[in-house]
Amino acid sequence: MASSYLGSSIIGRAQESRALLVVLHNIRDYAKGRHRVTDDTPYGGGGGMVMKPDPIFEAVESVLGSKREGTPVILMTPQGRLFSQAVARELSGYKRIALIAGRYEGVDERVRQHLATDEISIGDYVLTGGELPALTVIDAVTRLLPGVLGDDAATEKDSHGDSGLLEHPHYTRPMNYRGWRVPDTLVSGDHNRVELWRRQHALRRTWKRRPDLFDGVHLSDLEKEWLAKVVKEYEADETKGSE
Ligand code: SAM
Repeated sequence: MASSYLGSSIIGRAQESRALLVVLHNIRDYAKGRHRVTDDTPYGGGGGMVMKPDPIFEAVESVLGSKREGTPVILMTPQGRLFSQAVARELSGYKRIALIAGRYEGVDERVRQHLATDEISIGDYVLTGGELPALTVIDAVTRLLPGVLGDDAATEKDSHGDSGLLEHPHYTRPMNYRGWRVPDTLVSGDHNRVELWRRQHALRRTWKRRPDLFDGVHLSDLEKEWLAKVVKEYEADETKGSE
């Protein structure tokens, strides 16, 4: 599952160009005995299985070897700190990271206590395994690595990028689709007007959808004024709508 995703599209190309190297390790290869068992029943009873600590410790220790210094060992768990663009940016600064994907009821607690140096959740829901969460982290981090996207600046303009805002809306051809026209400004050829339109629409969109994101966003006096006008117009519309 993971190798197919990691081998395609932007992540596949990032690996071809050596901007990124992902090595997958099958926990079963580190399990002992004829059946290479990686899970067992929980102490204290109850349903479900728990991933045994020994194959996980051995996998991480043998993969990272003595050069473990400074490499974050990240346990994917719905109990971890919430993943975000800021966390992706933080992880993109490391030369190497190790991700542990759990299954069943999760991993033996001693992995969390004595092996993992970080725990990440991709959201407040529970998936069947840590593979998709690990791929999510790899994907978001890869986009931020130098040289991976054609235009390096593109990630700064994305939602949750440097501006802290949601990104402005995008349009492409045709100019008129089913009577829905592209905003005139975007086809005006006036670069300054287009930039202003984009900034204003990023502000409007963020205010409407994620006002919580405004904390920490720097707005110029002109932008504050403009936004106040948008808010007023919106409130006037709301009142009209409710009459
Ligand atoms: N019993 C665990 C709990 O309630 O916290 C959930 C175990 S979950 C079914 C199995 C594995 O999927 C976890 O060990 C973890 O690796 C992964 N997983 C599930 N949801 C996740 C999430 N939101 N974020 C990160 N990893 C998740």
